Amino acid sequence: MFNDPVDVIPSVGDKTKEQLEMLNITKVGDLLFHFPFRYDFFELKPLKEINHEEVATIQGEVASEPNLSFFGRKKSRLTCTIQVGVVAIKAVFFNQAFLKDKLIRGETVTLTGKWDMHRLQLTVQQLHPKSFQEDNTIQPVYHSKGNLSTKQIKKLVKYALKSSLEDVYEMLPESYLKEYKLPSRQLAVQELHQPSSKTALKHAKRRFIYEELFIFQLKMQWIKEHNKKASYGLPKEYDKSKIETFITQLSFQLTNSQSRALNEILSDLKSNYRMNRLLQGDVGSGKTVVAAIALYATYLAGQQGALMVPTEILAEQHEQSLRELFGDLLQIELLTGSVKGKKREERLERISSGEVDIVVGTHALIQDDTLFKELGLVIVDEQHRFGVNQRKTLRDKGLNPDVLFMTATPIPRTLSITTFGDMDVSIIDEMPKGRQPIETYWVKENMIERVHQFLIKETDAGHQAYVIAPLIEESDKLDIQNAVDVFEELQSTLPPSISVGLMHGRLSAQEKDEVMREFAANNIQILVSTTVVEVGVNVPNATVMVIYDAERFGLAQLHQLRGRVGRGKHQSYCILLADPKGETGKERMRVMTETNDGFTLSEHDLQIRGPGDFFGKKQSGLPEFKVANIVDDYRALEVARRDAVDVISNNRLSTDTDYRYLKELIENDPKIKERIFD
Ligand code: ADP
Ligand code: MG
Repeated sequence: MFNDPVDVIPSVGDKTKEQLEMLNITKVGDLLFHFPFRYDFFELKPLKEINHEEVATIQGEVASEPNLSFFGRKKSRLTCTIQVGVVAIKAVFFNQAFLKDKLIRGETVTLTGKWDMHRLQLTVQQLHPKSFQEDNTIQPVYHSKGNLSTKQIKKLVKYALKSSLEDVYEMLPESYLKEYKLPSRQLAVQELHQPSSKTALKHAKRRFIYEELFIFQLKMQWIKEHNKKASYGLPKEYDKSKIETFITQLSFQLTNSQSRALNEILSDLKSNYRMNRLLQGDVGSGKTVVAAIALYATYLAGQQGALMVPTEILAEQHEQSLRELFGDLLQIELLTGSVKGKKREERLERISSGEVDIVVGTHALIQDDTLFKELGLVIVDEQHRFGVNQRKTLRDKGLNPDVLFMTATPIPRTLSITTFGDMDVSIIDEMPKGRQPIETYWVKENMIERVHQFLIKETDAGHQAYVIAPLIEESDKLDIQNAVDVFEELQSTLPPSISVGLMHGRLSAQEKDEVMREFAANNIQILVSTTVVEVGVNVPNATVMVIYDAERFGLAQLHQLRGRVGRGKHQSYCILLADPKGETGKERMRVMTETNDGFTLSEHDLQIRGPGDFFGKKQSGLPEFKVANIVDDYRALEVARRDAVDVISNNRLSTDTDYRYLKELIENDPKIKERIFD
C-alpha cells in the first residue's frame, strides 16, 4: 500500500486528492510522514489545581438545561451549569449556538476552556466528543491546505497507519538506536500521529530530530568528501620560510586567530585537494592580511591569484592595500567595469601572459573574457553579496582553483555547520590588540537636535559621519524618499560649511562609487544613505554612524553598519535612533549597546529571529527540517555532525551493510547531484 496513490483510499476523491497534492502528499505512505505540527494537551485537571485564567480541560455532568440567548447581529451566548465533583460551575459558549443539543442534562461532558476562578466560570473553547478518554488526551494538529480539516487528515492518516505502517523500514543502524535509546522508525511514526503518552511522544520526536539532522549532515560530509576526491586542486609548492619572513616584516603581529586561520588555509593550498573554505571574521578582525598571505603563497608556487569583491570602490581599496603590503614584491592589477578600451586589453594581456600575479576586481572578473595563465586561488570577499554559485561559474570556465570565501557576517556555529556543512570553515574570533571599542548609544528620536549638535562637533574636529535613513519594508521607493528627507533636513539644519552627500540604491553602480569616492576624499563630511553602504568600505576618518529607526534592522545588519566606523585611530560612535514598541526591539537596542562582538550578536539574532530569517530570504541555503529546529536542537545537531563525520571518514557507507539504506538515500538524492563536482 505504501506506494499506492492516495485515491486508493475509499474516501479520497479528486478534490481531496488535489488538496493532498498541495501538501506534497501523493502516495499513501506520504501521509505517514505528514507529521503534526503541534499537539494539544487535554489532560483532565481537578478544579482546585487550575489557576485563574488558565486554559484547562475538565469533566463534569450537565446539571441544567442549556440557556441560549442572542445579542448583536449574529452573536450568541449559550450557558449551562456543570457539576464538577462537588462544585457546580457555569459553562459559557460564545457563538456556538449549535452545541445546544449536545448538552443533555445528566450526561457527562468534557470541556476545554478558560477558567475564571472568582466567578466559577469556564469560557468554553472546545466541547470534546463523547468518546473522549483520559488516555487519549494528546491531540495532534496538522498543517492543511484548502478546506481539508485536521479531522479529515487524522482519518486518512489512521488509514495509512493501518495499511502501510509495516512498510516503513528502519534506516538507522541498530547501534544508533541502542546508543541514543531511540524508538524504531515504525514506532516513532505511530507515536507522532497517535501519541500514547507525553514521554512516548518526546522520544518519537527525538528520533526524527536525530534522523533528520544526521541524514542532512551525512549528505554534507559526503559532498565534501566527494568533491575533495573528485577535483584535484593545484597543489602549491611554496617556500615556507619566505612566508615566515613576510609575516615578521608586517607592521603588526598576527593575532592567534589569524595565525590559526592562515595555517588552515596554507595547508589546503599545499594539499592535492581543492580548497573550498569559508573564512569568517568580524568587521575589522583582519581578514585581508590573511587573504594577502594566501595570495603570496600562491605566487611563490608560481600560480596566479584573484581577489573578487562586490563593488568597484572596494576593489580599488583592496588593490591599494595589497600594493602597500607587497611593495614591488609581485605584480598586482586592477580589473573592474570602469577599466575599458585599450587599458583593459593591455591588462587582460598581462594577465593571460602570466605577468600579473594578483588580479583584484569585481565579480565580472571570472565571468567575462578574462583568461589566466594559471589561476591557482580565487578569494571571494564579502561572500554574502554573491550568490553561492561562483564555484559553478569557475568550474564552467574550466578553472579549478582553490577557493576561499570571506564573510564579515559572523554566523552562529549551528547555522554555519548547517548552511556551509559541505565547506571547511575557519574563524577569526579575536580583534587585533589596541582597538578602541566603538561607543554605542541608544537615543529616542526626539533627541535628534542633540544628535545634530554632535554631528557638528565631530565634523568641526575634522571627522566624518554616516547617517542611515530609516528602512521601510522592502519598498525601494519609500526608502529612497526617506533618505532624501533626511538629507534635506540635515542640509537645512546644519551649517552650510558642512557638505552633506546622498546615496541610495537607485543610483547606478558608477554613481554610487562616485559618491563614495567623494566621501573617502572628505569632500563630503556627512553621508546620508540607505543601507547600501553596509558592505566593507573603509573610510578611517569616519567616526560617527547614526542609524534612524534602528529597531527596524536586524542585529547582524546593525553590526555591519556600525563596522563602517572605528576603522581609524579616533574614538568612534554609533548612535541608534529608536523608539521600539515591543520587547524584542528594546532587547536588540540593549544588546547593541552592550556588546561589540559580532558572534555574540549573531547568537542573539538567531534566538530572536529564528533560523529562517537569519540570512534574509534571498539566499539562505538553509534546509527545511520537518521536526528538527537547529536553534532548539543544537545539541542533537552537534552529535549528528560528529556521527556523520565518523561515518564518512571511516567509509562505513560502502563497507558496512547496516548503512545500506542511508547509502541508497544519498546516492539517489537529486539535490546532492547538483552540488557535487564531476
Ligand atoms: P576585515 O576583516 O574587516 O576585512 P581588515 O582586513 O580590513 O579587516 O583589517 C582592518 C585593519 O586592521 C587593517 O587596517 C589592518 O591592517 C589591521 N590589522 C589586521 N590585522 C592586524 C593585527 N594583527 N594587528 C593590528 N592591526 C591589524
Ligand atoms: Mg574586509
